[in-house]
Parts: sequence; structure tokens; C-alpha cells
Amino acid sequence: MSKEKQAIEIIKTAKHLVAFTGAGISVESGIPPFRGENGIWNKYDPETLDISFFMSNPAESWKRIKQMFSEVLQQPKPNKAHLFLSKLEKMNLLKSIITQNIDNLHFLAGNQNVIEFHGNTRDLVCVGCGKIHKMKDVDLDILPPKCSSCGKVLKPDFVFFGENIPTDAYNKSQSEIEKTDVILIIGTSGVIFPASLIPEFAKRNGAKVIEINTKPTEYTSRITDLFLQGSAEKVCSELESYL
Ligand code: ZN
Repeated sequence: MSKEKQAIEIIKTAKHLVAFTGAGISVESGIPPFRGENGIWNKYDPETLDISFFMSNPAESWKRIKQMFSEVLQQPKPNKAHLFLSKLEKMNLLKSIITQNIDNLHFLAGNQNVIEFHGNTRDLVCVGCGKIHKMKDVDLDILPPKCSSCGKVLKPDFVFFGENIPTDAYNKSQSEIEKTDVILIIGTSGVIFPASLIPEFAKRNGAKVIEINTKPTEYTSRITDLFLQGSAEKVCSELESYL
């Protein structure tokens, strides 16, 4: 039996399948990964998304963030890998997705139960009163944008370097990890802490680990049971053909 067929058998018989996704699933939607040759950090200073830099230089930080948004997040569309996960959820085979991505593509693909471990790019949060503002409702012509309630600076509602994981996302992930018996890792190399621990905990709880990536990762030789090598779209299309 091919590895893809084996994977589908495991997916179909899972009691609580959870997907764990990273930048690699969105590359074929035109979103560059943070690291590596064509990575975002080859073009932008990582300091741009550092919380202490942001707090002391909100205007400069926002100038760079705005440029990054306009270049990196140009109306991307979900690709075949996102749509495969959406199909699995509709078939009631997939219980949730824990994603490290902030690109909104799992929601756009139609998934309902998505835990955004690193926040999102839809909202802005006030550093003063904590009020959430929709990005589309905020005028970004004058930087930094300010809160309409208290006048303090608004920050994108995703996790900056030096910030904690949002409590809600963290707790929901923990609860999913406790329940899962199969975890499907797509496009993440397992180097971003503490997100990287999610598959480790799942494995420790006895879950089977299926991994999709273009090349072996930190997980592959240690915890992966079934490694499917190839791009997210290529492997997911093949998996879908066996559904
Ligand atoms: Zn406020």
C-alpha cells in the first residue's frame, strides 16, 4: 500500500484527528515563509515584529508592518491543501486545526474550528484598553493607528517576538492535544517554540503522527510515524484522491 493510502486509512479511522499547520501550507498561496532563502526575514528586519521595538517606536514599526502587509498578504487564496482540510472537516473526519499561520486561509477555505496559535491579521488590539478593532475599519493613513475609545496605540492582533501565546488559543490547543489520537502536521519544521511542542505532546499522549513536508524536519526521525514528502498541495491532492 502506498504511504498516501496508509495515511488516508489512518485519517478515516481516527477518533479525534487534529491538523497542525505552519508556513509551508501557505507557500503555494503565494505567502513567503519567514525563514529560508526567499523568507520574509531576508527582506525585513525581524525587529519589525519585536514587541519592545513596537512599544518604543510604534510609528516606525507600523510603517514597516504596513509595507509588509501590502507586499506579503496581497489577498491570498486558499490552495488545495487548505481545501483538503476543509473537506475533511465537512466529512467530520477532522476535529480542529491548530495553525501557526496568521494568514486567515483556513477560515477562507471554509474550516470552522481553527485555533490561531499566533493570532491573526484580521484584527488590531489596543495596547491600552485591550479593545479589538477590525483591521478593515481602521484608517492606516496616519500611523500609528489609535484606539477610538482610549486613544492608545493599536497593535496587530498577532503574536510579536517577546509576547506570550494568546491564553484562549493556548488553552484550546492543550485541550485538543489531550483528545487527539492522530495529528496531521503540514508544512512546519518544528523550530518555533512553544508551538513546536504541540506534536510532541500529542505523541506523548499516544497519538499517531502523520507529517507532510518538502523535506525531513525536527520531527521526522523522532516522532513521525508516516512521513509524506512533497509540497502541501501535491501531497494533499493525492490524499484527497483516496478519500
Ligand atoms: Zn483603547
